[in-house]
Amino acid sequence: MELTGSSAIVTGGASGIGAAVARALAAQGATVVVADLQADKGEALAAEIGGVFAQVDVTDTDQIAGAVRAAAEIAPLRAVVNSAGIGWAQRTIGRDGQLESAHSLEAFTKVVAINLIGTFDMVRQAATVMSQNEPDEDGCRGAIVNLASVAAFDGQIGQASYSASKGGVVGMTLPVARDLSAAGIRLNTVAPGLIDTPIYGEGEQAEAFKAKLGESVLFPRRLGTGAELASMVIECLTNSYMNGEVVRVDGGIRMPPK
Ligand code: NAD
Repeated sequence: MELTGSSAIVTGGASGIGAAVARALAAQGATVVVADLQADKGEALAAEIGGVFAQVDVTDTDQIAGAVRAAAEIAPLRAVVNSAGIGWAQRTIGRDGQLESAHSLEAFTKVVAINLIGTFDMVRQAATVMSQNEPDEDGCRGAIVNLASVAAFDGQIGQASYSASKGGVVGMTLPVARDLSAAGIRLNTVAPGLIDTPIYGEGEQAEAFKAKLGESVLFPRRLGTGAELASMVIECLTNSYMNGEVVRVDGGIRMPPK
């Protein structure tokens, strides 16, 4: 699928994987709406790639509608990537065995609201607009990629909310792809392993943590880069025969990191 002359939306586009995807989409000729909470980083990236920044909290359905409208006003919206997400490490039962220090319902709800419900809301609103596009020779009107995680399959201690949210993103892939096929829209999910982004924090401690995590990757024994993820996202968007798939990009990681 050709993206030149189209608009695209990347949620979470101000940082990490989303920023790498936004750059790659711009290189494909799309005008990118960088949709994120972070205005400083989002505006800087939009300026760098000739795109537009939209301040969007993906838990706010009106703000999602605004980003979709803004993209469609630029050019036909043919590509959407849902990369906005947060991690939250909190045990289901506290280390002390007390429920009081356990994973709070508030935290669980927040993670699911951003990672899963925010993703679904963007999918449904973007698909409504995409379905009005002129189809290409295959009848395709647009393509969507959602970011899940290997945590959907290999959840670690303290990752209940994160794994549940990403498991939801994996689980909705096929049914939503089936629904959207009728409108000429393809949807795939990319499940990253351990990717070097600000999601792990910044500074000396974060660098040491990431170096240790890299040792658990089968090959190569390091964290992945945003660019390595972005190339798979672009493949899922542009390959006309990719639909309803969940693709792991994880250096072969299978065992829980030590
Ligand atoms: P990141 O922290 O670098 O970027 C995430 C972006 O999402 C940030 O710019 C943040 O401002 C934005 N965001 C957070 N909450 C938002 C909200 N409510 N509305 C709009 N934007 C919001 O993280 P990343 O590593 O680039 O992660 C991107 C996606 O990939 C996430 O969904 C994450 O769960 C997933 N993922 C990352 C890894 C990894 O190792 N980095 C592994 C598996 C999955």
